[in-house]
Amino acid sequence: FRNICNDWLSVCEWRKYSSPMEASLITNDTDQQTIDNLFRAVEENVGTYQRYLRLKAKLMRLPKLGCHDILAPLPDAPDMKFTFEQAKDLVIRAYASFDEGYAFAVKDMFQRRHIDATPRYGKQHGAFCAGWYNGKTAYVLQSFNGRLNDLYTLAHELGHATHDYYCYRNQTILNSRVPMVVAETASIFGELLLTDLLLKEAKTDMEKKVVLCRILDGAGRVIFSVTSRAWFEQSIYEAIKRGEYLNHETICKYWVAVRDKAYGDTVEWFNEMLSEWSITPHYYMANFRFYNYPYVYAQLFVYALYQKYMEEGKAFVPKMEKILSMGSSISPVEIGKIAGFDVTTKEFWQIGMKQYEHFLKELEKITQ
Ligand SMILES: [Zn+2]
Repeated sequence: FRNICNDWLSVCEWRKYSSPMEASLITNDTDQQTIDNLFRAVEENVGTYQRYLRLKAKLMRLPKLGCHDILAPLPDAPDMKFTFEQAKDLVIRAYASFDEGYAFAVKDMFQRRHIDATPRYGKQHGAFCAGWYNGKTAYVLQSFNGRLNDLYTLAHELGHATHDYYCYRNQTILNSRVPMVVAETASIFGELLLTDLLLKEAKTDMEKKVVLCRILDGAGRVIFSVTSRAWFEQSIYEAIKRGEYLNHETICKYWVAVRDKAYGDTVEWFNEMLSEWSITPHYYMANFRFYNYPYVYAQLFVYALYQKYMEEGKAFVPKMEKILSMGSSISPVEIGKIAGFDVTTKEFWQIGMKQYEHFLKELEKITQ
């Protein structure tokens, strides 16, 4: 790890990058100011995440969460099961609740049978959406087992398909590959539409709790835990530049410092987790540094869009369609402007945080 980081600093010097992060900024078509402000907004809101983790401990009837509890399901959660037909119906209705026309891609994907969802022996695990530019469509692979997670995966991947449908109909093939920071726009938006539908149709408070915890677990991890990994990388490069010699102990020290910045005292960690950094594969990809923060950007960008939708209602629909139609023909900054946002400011990133806190407040309401 030390050698990879040392090596990267030399590469940055030779290539005249102004910082170890610059290469990734170019790849993601973003800039330092935007990312600094994103990180600042995350740092200012760690208290919200910690408030959730304390509440989750209470829901799990624990004095404090163990590190293995952070993403654990609630102990008395009902086993929510869905047939593929039910999942199809829910996802179509979720997308159509935003706008009837917006669901056209999702409906078309089902009609064409472009979704391989059946679990089979020997099938590739995981899920993805592969776009087909000339066919102006896409293909989705997942293994649907009827769980809530599978339902969310379906809504997520069909968001990618929706993005492809809009983009391929409006852009040349050269502009059809979207930078990572905005590539999750329709997929996460689709998850949020599904969340609202599930909350609206939940029969019990327990069902609502399950849905809300799922969102708060997943988004919380992306926003706060992933940011701490970027902080970690930054602090390692700073240490090397100061001439510090890094060994296992000192690297652990830097990791724990940023981990605790995100989690505070809300989690009891296994001692082994001091070296959690050593099992994070992305840190070992030579010449590909700062892999993680685009996920934070993507998540909070979409949460901000959703806030805008809540505020503007149907007036927001054409803006969303335009955003998805742009592909990579304009920069992520320009894409933000379509919704009336300036993504380079800290104030912008606070808007996405408000959406996260909104879910937390909903959970607090039903747990009191
Ligand atoms: Zn995705």
